[in-house]
Amino acid sequence: MLQKISSLIVTVLLITGCVAPQTRAPATNNDATNAEARKQQILVVEDYMTNYKKLQNVSSRIITSGVDHCGDKTAGYYGFHYWNQDSFQSTWKEITKSQYDLDEKFKILHISEKSPAEKAALKEGDVIVSINQWLVPIGKDANKQLAQKLAEQARGLSPVEIAVLREGAEHKISITPVKSCDFQVHLASDDTKNAYADGKNIVVYKGMMDFFRTDEEMALVVSHELAHNAMQHIDAKKKNATAGSILGLILDIAAATAGVNTNGDFSRMGAGIAGNAYSVEFEQEADYVGLYIMQKAGFNIDNAAGFWRRMAVNNAQAITIKSSHPTTPERFVAIEETVKEIKGKIEKGVALNPELKK
Ligand SMILES: [Zn+2]
Repeated sequence: MLQKISSLIVTVLLITGCVAPQTRAPATNNDATNAEARKQQILVVEDYMTNYKKLQNVSSRIITSGVDHCGDKTAGYYGFHYWNQDSFQSTWKEITKSQYDLDEKFKILHISEKSPAEKAALKEGDVIVSINQWLVPIGKDANKQLAQKLAEQARGLSPVEIAVLREGAEHKISITPVKSCDFQVHLASDDTKNAYADGKNIVVYKGMMDFFRTDEEMALVVSHELAHNAMQHIDAKKKNATAGSILGLILDIAAATAGVNTNGDFSRMGAGIAGNAYSVEFEQEADYVGLYIMQKAGFNIDNAAGFWRRMAVNNAQAITIKSSHPTTPERFVAIEETVKEIKGKIEKGVALNPELKK
């Protein structure tokens, strides 16, 4: 019996020791693989652009509607984003350059829905020539200079004349900026389910974007992050935030994540990881104030709490373990209460202001 077993073991060892492919998989050639790699990279860029535009459309409403909560952290807002050949790095630079016909000049990448830029009929693809007669430079620092000029000219909220090239002809577009919170919203390309605010910027990760099922869910997260910035949970001056640019592509994100605390709000919540950015109280405040901002931006808040059930399913630890964030059941219940409070105020026709501590 013992002998039989040991010979069986030997046989098994022999078999497992000689494992090699049994079938003939198709041979691949380099040209086909390279061509496919290119196609897949183009898909990545297209997916990034789709997400970027969705995020900016939702954020546009939130940063303008949240203005009452942002104190002196406000700016003039146009509602357009631009880019050029240097907006992306390395592989992505070459792909966007050829795919979207980019050079050193700044081209309108996106116009947020219902923004001043949309009302003024600025168009995607327009090349920016001048701002109130100031000629847009090219080369090193041009991006920074353009961002500074735009911010400066928007400050008074009076019409700004932007000359653009469209199909070879110059057009003069007059945009009247509106007041908004002075925070930039960025899309990070990482596949993590996360978002964070650093006092000056709001960063949403692609993994989080993929998780959202509705614009309302996206609005909930952006409003929460805006509330962190608006309520000054992090002193922006202490943080090395991205400067100057209104274009939030991968290039900017690289700078943003290098200098700020990237322990975001969502993927790690409840996981007990040290070094989280905010205390439980700040998180509760961001949920609370964020919901008011979301309502003011015109998003339906009826299903806001449900988001935390979906997050719980995604991260079961967060149901019971409290760390820097409240647990998902606590967040669910608190948000339901806040929704009731807001609905009550709407019914009574009372101003939508968060309640202050007595
Ligand atoms: Zn938070």
